[in-house]
Amino acid sequence: MKSKYDFLIVGAGLFGATFAFEANKRGKKCLVIDRRNHIGGNVYCENIEGINVHKYGAHIFHTNSKEIWEYVNQFAEFNRYTNSPIANYKGEIFNLPFNMNTFNKLWGVVTPKEAMDKINEQRAEAGIIEPKNLEEQAISLVGTDIYEKLIKGYTEKQWGRSASELPAFIIKRLPVRFNYDNNYFNDKYQGIPEGGYNKIIEKMLEGIDVKLNIDFFRERNDLETQAEKIVFTGMIDEFFNYQFGKLEYRSLQFENEIHQTDNYQGNAVVNYTDSKTPYTRIIEHKHFEFGTQDKTVITKEYPVEWAPGDEPYYPINNDKNNLIYKKYRELSEKQNNIIFGGRLATYKYYDMHQVIGAALKAVEKEFDTSLLNE
Ligand code: FAD
Ligand code: UDP
Repeated sequence: MKSKYDFLIVGAGLFGATFAFEANKRGKKCLVIDRRNHIGGNVYCENIEGINVHKYGAHIFHTNSKEIWEYVNQFAEFNRYTNSPIANYKGEIFNLPFNMNTFNKLWGVVTPKEAMDKINEQRAEAGIIEPKNLEEQAISLVGTDIYEKLIKGYTEKQWGRSASELPAFIIKRLPVRFNYDNNYFNDKYQGIPEGGYNKIIEKMLEGIDVKLNIDFFRERNDLETQAEKIVFTGMIDEFFNYQFGKLEYRSLQFENEIHQTDNYQGNAVVNYTDSKTPYTRIIEHKHFEFGTQDKTVITKEYPVEWAPGDEPYYPINNDKNNLIYKKYRELSEKQNNIIFGGRLATYKYYDMHQVIGAALKAVEKEFDTSLLNE
């Protein structure tokens, strides 16, 4: 007997919603479920005091791909927001990412050559030839002063591990520039969807059956009979009953505050890079959309170790976890009729544009079609 749905999509985040939109467009009947009480996954925004509060952490869309940029623009218009976080180290303010403004404030250097000389001097003193971990990578990119003030404290709070035990790639997400450019990203396209991210997901899921507050694992047997195929975007180790061991994740706790002022910190993102302040950053949401409300909402972001029942925000891609993941991936490749995708099911530190790209690739494979040239 044919099932009621062609696809059961577990997770109403960006991967699940993109896949559902494309499948629906091709006449396939989809059921999207999520264990949360809302759609959108981690890009979901909550309206508080007329401000779109990024409930699961600040989300700035950026991509170098014209195709992905055009793709998301069919669902919403984007504003001209450019992310330029600042770092607060024990009350001293520095520009991010690491650029001539940062170097000038720290060392009084004015020209790119002076900055490079300073970094080369510190790199030589540290004696690092081939960086093997985040600490060595950071020192070899920007020297010991910046590492000590802007990286070590933040990183060790964020990941709950020594920077010397973390993979180098994490710090390579951040640009290092020898000009006075405070744009946090190098990508050609950047912005925040006008009206918030929910609009994008709502449009993607228009006309598609969505059921919330449903945990796949609680109703697995029944759900599996309802569709020909499953698209799974939850935790891959949970899917396979942790048979090769538990993968580690980093979780977060968010503390919102409403303040009776129109401008609390003068910037959307302020990072607290010392080791004592328990949170990593304070987000003032209205600045993402140039809000003019009388009040403001800020969120303090506290990193915590993940335990069952917590939200698994970040995969911890060190050697130990990558080895465990490899076993799950091999097993996942042998499953008929199950597509694994997104940040949790592929255990990857993916940004939004990469998740959309991966979902479109999955669509290309599933429907034997071509969507992306890049
Ligand atoms: P998710 O959004 O996690 O969606 C998965 C969904 O599946 C969730 O809604 C979950 O509830 C549901 N689910 C899981 N298990 C089950 C189950 N068993 N049953 C039912 N439902 C289930 N990216 C950027 O590009 N720019 C940024 O500035 C940025 N900032 C970020 C800041 C933070 C703090 C975090 C954590 C991430 C950030 N990202 C950013 C990354 C971005 O959030 C992700 O790339 C993207 O949202 C991942 O989409 P997804 O669909 O893979 O996963
Ligand atoms: N980082 C840091 N100091 C900062 C900002 C970032 O040391 O002020 C490091 C930290 O290890 C962090 C990584 O750079 O995990 C990547 O930063 P990004 O802002 O991309 O993190 P995300 O927004 O994904 O949490």
